[in-house]
Amino acid sequence: MEYKTTIGLEIHTELKTKSKMFCSCKNDSLEKNANHNICPVCTAQPGTLPVANEDAIKKVIKTGWALNCKIAKESKFDRKNYFYPDLPKGYQISQYDKPFCEDGYLELEETRSPNALGNRVSQKDRASRKLKRIRITRVHLEEDTGRLIHKKESSLVDFNRAGVPLMEMVTEPDITSGKQARKFAEELRLIFRYLNVSSADMEKGQMRVEVNISLSKSSKLGTKVEIKNLNSFRSVEKSIDYEIERQKKILDEGKEVIQETRGWNEVKGETVSQRKKEEAHDYRYFPEPDLPTFHFDNKYVNTIQLEIPELPEAKRQRLMKEYNLDRRNVEIFIINKDLGEYFEQVMSELTNWVNLVRGYNDKMKVQRRQTSNEVKEIEQKKIIGEKELFRLSKIVVNYISSDLQGLLGGMSVEDKRFLITAENFAEFIALIYEGKMASKIAKKVLEGMFKTGIDPSHIIDNQELTQIDDQSKLESVIKNIISKNPKAVEDYNKGKENALQFLAGQVMAGTQGRANPDIVQELLKRELNK
Ligand SMILES: [Zn+2]
Repeated sequence: MEYKTTIGLEIHTELKTKSKMFCSCKNDSLEKNANHNICPVCTAQPGTLPVANEDAIKKVIKTGWALNCKIAKESKFDRKNYFYPDLPKGYQISQYDKPFCEDGYLELEETRSPNALGNRVSQKDRASRKLKRIRITRVHLEEDTGRLIHKKESSLVDFNRAGVPLMEMVTEPDITSGKQARKFAEELRLIFRYLNVSSADMEKGQMRVEVNISLSKSSKLGTKVEIKNLNSFRSVEKSIDYEIERQKKILDEGKEVIQETRGWNEVKGETVSQRKKEEAHDYRYFPEPDLPTFHFDNKYVNTIQLEIPELPEAKRQRLMKEYNLDRRNVEIFIINKDLGEYFEQVMSELTNWVNLVRGYNDKMKVQRRQTSNEVKEIEQKKIIGEKELFRLSKIVVNYISSDLQGLLGGMSVEDKRFLITAENFAEFIALIYEGKMASKIAKKVLEGMFKTGIDPSHIIDNQELTQIDDQSKLESVIKNIISKNPKAVEDYNKGKENALQFLAGQVMAGTQGRANPDIVQELLKRELNK
């Protein structure tokens, strides 16, 4: 019988607010100068009182909405007694029995194979996609601790981070593998970023994942092991994979797994025992007397719900459907949100362009002159068909995901140095779509656009990249190529199709890629069959 793996996650996320949770100190956990952003409140001087940061509370409620939680009508803060030098008060203000959000879930699409992200998803697959629901127990708000810096003979403490708003999210034990845990955490990071509640950078400690994992053969849960110090998505997945194997081995040998906290050694790729479970912590929670209970009315929480933007999964589904994209391409636009927005702007320009061209032509048939209002009407009318839209989106995606991303080299399209407007990029695509520009030329034109920000038509004029459609010009080039390549001509006459492609390639090279490839094919065949 196989072991059943049960995994729950606890995720702490530093919220992106101007000030700390209970005082007006700057919230900047990356501040290099120790004890720079501190005041009597966050260093717990006697007589000071906390004031709750409303922006932080709103961000937790927003997250709760995005994760399908129930938002509390009544909520409060509690004191959690926990005596460590990085908590100057000797307790942490947290939430015990009345968190802001409870009882939510996040659904992940179950992929068929590890490479399924790259597979094309057909309409049928899309309709029948399998979802894995991971329930969320609660989302609450607390304050972060300071940092301890241990030296050889002493320890230093830096309170810059003390009192930074920290959101804690706890899942039910619904996760069953390292891969799934990683996917969940990655999706959560995307959601936090779309909501703009946190930068959620794991490497910078802005998002910290703790894993609870147990193996069992029966329906009863096995002994729980906690894994800490995970500072990348990769380590979340790898540490779980490792721990599953370690616990399996222990159980196979008839031994018992010890309840403990383990750390992850990235270099060795293994978990190591940090501390055995002592007595269960007695945090002696009690209601924080210095902060009032919160009562939220419907209007307040509903207003926050209205601020939620389109979330990553909804956007994935929409982009796939609207532009017929596959999962891999859609993921580029989901992770690079600004690139996705740029793509949609380009598509909107192209749609307008097609509508305008078609609209003009249709109108021209019945009426010679148009007023500006009629032009506007044509622009707004959807004339573009789905098939044409999909053909255009395919070209746009290809150029964005390969050539443009190559030119960008990691730079954002929102960077001031990026000069290609969506309008110019759309014109560039239109030229390709209409067969006015071969791919070799297109590469050069795009490079020119990237360097100068000039529109493609002018680049083509300035650099003499105009396509050669003139038959007589091309004929002389073709005759020249044929006379220089008797071997290929002979092969062609023997029926070798490759020889034709070779000669066509020579013609393209002879015109610096400017010849119209369709006309070249046609003329070549005619000349060879003479
Ligand atoms: Zn302070």
